Amino acid sequence: MDKDEVLATCMKHNFWTWSAQNHAHPIAVERAEGVYFWDMDGKRYLDFNSMVMCANVGHGEPRIRQAMIEQIETLTFAGPHMATLPRARICQKLLEIVPAGLEKFLFTLGGADANENAVKLARGYTGKFKILSQYRSYHGATFGALALTGDPRRTSWEPGVMPGVVHFSGPYRYRSALHASGEVISDEQLCRDYLHHLENIIRFEGPETIAGILMESVTGTNGVLIPPDGYLAGVRALCDRYHICLILDEVMAGFGRTGKWFACQHWGVTPDIMTMAKGLTGAYAPLGAVAMKAEVAAAYNEKVYQGGLTFNGHPVSLAAAIATIQMMQDDHIVDRAAQTGQVFAQELKQLMEKHPCIGEARSIGLFGAIELVKNRSSREPLADYNASSPTIKTLVNDLESAGLYIHAHWNVLLLIPPLIIRPEELREGFALIDKALTKVDHEIV
Ligand code: PLP
Repeated sequence: MDKDEVLATCMKHNFWTWSAQNHAHPIAVERAEGVYFWDMDGKRYLDFNSMVMCANVGHGEPRIRQAMIEQIETLTFAGPHMATLPRARICQKLLEIVPAGLEKFLFTLGGADANENAVKLARGYTGKFKILSQYRSYHGATFGALALTGDPRRTSWEPGVMPGVVHFSGPYRYRSALHASGEVISDEQLCRDYLHHLENIIRFEGPETIAGILMESVTGTNGVLIPPDGYLAGVRALCDRYHICLILDEVMAGFGRTGKWFACQHWGVTPDIMTMAKGLTGAYAPLGAVAMKAEVAAAYNEKVYQGGLTFNGHPVSLAAAIATIQMMQDDHIVDRAAQTGQVFAQELKQLMEKHPCIGEARSIGLFGAIELVKNRSSREPLADYNASSPTIKTLVNDLESAGLYIHAHWNVLLLIPPLIIRPEELREGFALIDKALTKVDHEIV
C-alpha cells in the first residue's frame, strides 16, 4: 500500500479516539529513530511530543528491541498468576528507582487501569470510599479514570461514571482559582491557600469517608502545572492527619521527565500508592504499574484482591521495561534530562521575551508548556477550555508542515521531547516554534 491507500483505509475503517471521525488528521508514520520519525513519503518530523508523551528514551533503541526479541524467543507469554524471571527482575529494577518505602508492584496495561487499581486498593486498605482529585488533571480515558480526571472532557460521560469522586483545585499561579488575576502571590501563600482549600473540602466531605487523594505530582496534559515548594509535603501531611491514602499519578511526570526519576522526588514526598506507565517501557510495549507501601499490600494478605486482567505484566512488556530502566541508568538519562532541561528553560525564556502571544512559559526538566493568550495583561486565553481555537489549530498544522510534531491542549502548547534530545536538536525545534509564533503575534494584535 502507498501512503494514500494507508490513509484512505485507516480513515474509512479505523475508529479514531480523542477525535471526531471526520476530523482525524493522522500522519502516515512509517519509521522512527532517535528524536525523529518519518512518514511514508519520507518527510521527517522532530518529535516534540515523544509521540504520546511516552517515547522518553527516543525511538528505535536497539538494546530495548533486543531484550524484547530475546524474551519473545524464551517465553512470549505467561499469565499474571505466574512467577517469571522478567517479573522478578522488573520488581528489583523498580526498587532501585522508586521512592524508598514503595515495595510491592501491581502490573497493569497502562496508566488508566493503574489509577483505577490504585483507587480500588486505597478503598480496600482504608475501608473508606471517596476519592478527591484535582480539577485540571488527566488520569485516563476508561470510565473510572475519566471520572477521576478533572477537565471538561469528562463531563460528557457524567453523571456518575464512578461515584464517590470529589474534585478540588490545585495550585496554579497563573490562573489561580483562589486569587485575583495578576495578583502577586508568594510560594508560601500559594501553598497555604491551596492547602487550606483542600483541608476545607476534606472536613466538609468528612475525613471518615475519604479513602484517597489522587493527583499528578506535576500536572501534565492540563498545562505542566508545577506545584510550589511545600505543597506536596502539605498534602502528605493532610493525608497523614486524616488517615487518607496519598496516591500520586506519575504516569506522565515519571521516568525522568522532570529531571528526577519521579517528580515527587523533587520534594522528597513518598506517596502510599504511586502509579506509572508511559515512560516505564519507553513506549516500546504497553505497561503500567502501581507501586504501593507494604501496609497497603498487607491489607490483602488474607482477603482476595478482586482484580487482574489477562495481559497484566506481559513478559515482553516487562522485558522492555527492564531494558528501558537499564538503558536509562547506563546512559545517565535522568541526569542528562536535568541538564538539557536548563537549555530548554533558557530557550523558553527567550521565546517568552520575544512573543507577546505567550502569557506564561514554564518547565521542569524536559516537561514544558507555553500558555498562549490574546492579551498579556488581561491573560485572556487564546482558546477557552473545551473550545478549539482556529489560531492554535493553524499553529500546530504549520509546525507539522515545517517538520515539528507537537501537541496543544486548549490554549497550551505542550513541549515534551524525548529525554535523549541533544541541545542542537532542541534548538532546531525552538527555532521552528519561534517562527510559527511570530504569525500568532500578528493575529492577536
Ligand atoms: N495519568 C496521566 C497523568 C496521564 O497523562 C495519562 C495519559 O496521558 C494517563 C494517566 C492515562 O494513561 P494511559 O493512556 O496509558 O491509560
